[in-house]
Amino acid sequence: SNVVVAIDGYSSCGKSTLAKALAKKLHFIYVDSGAMYRAVTLYFLRNNVDLKDEEAILAALKDVHLNFHSRDYNSHILLNDEEVSDEIRLMPVSENVSAVAALKSVRHEMVKQQQRMGASKNIVMDGRDIGTAVFPNAQVKVFMTADPKVRAERRFKELSPANPDLTLEDVFENLAHRDYADTTRAESPLTRAADAIILDNTNLTPEQQLDFALEKLKP
Ligand code: C5P
Repeated sequence: SNVVVAIDGYSSCGKSTLAKALAKKLHFIYVDSGAMYRAVTLYFLRNNVDLKDEEAILAALKDVHLNFHSRDYNSHILLNDEEVSDEIRLMPVSENVSAVAALKSVRHEMVKQQQRMGASKNIVMDGRDIGTAVFPNAQVKVFMTADPKVRAERRFKELSPANPDLTLEDVFENLAHRDYADTTRAESPLTRAADAIILDNTNLTPEQQLDFALEKLKP
């Protein structure tokens, strides 16, 4: 049967870099679950969905259609057929995504879609609850951590060319805020699955992370 590799951890720990490299090496499909929560958040922001209005949330979710088309394992996400891969990385989405991701009905719908993607195909999925709530029986689970300052610096380097007003402090604050929200929410909070391997990548290159994970994948 098919294989699922689950990669969870805090924001900007390098999960997607590792997940993409693994998918490429193993010829698996890469799925960025965070992009799904981000795309829902973008839709909610654009349509002023009130996060306290359960009926409005359910109605909005019915109008959100997400699709991935992966080119070179850089999964591009489509929100109602519109390519939103760049827009979902910008600050307005980053600042609101953890609140949207804490909503029970949003998680319920995303988890359902994610489980469908992993039901019959070999996948590498990264996120916060993949090894716990989405695929508790995943064959391989990695839990990634890294020093918060190193994470902020890496993310700042990625974002600053396109966002000249952004400061390192903004990025650091946003990561801290999301870590706090993600680990304390009521609905499947971010936590390490008991059977997940811990990977601290503060001082590892992408190549070293890949070697580490491949070693764990050996039967
Ligand atoms: O992975 P990324 O940092 O893009 O995820 C953005 C946000 O989406 C996270 O901070 C978290 O609030 C939410 N998320 C989640 N569960 C996942 C993936 C992401 O709650 N499986």
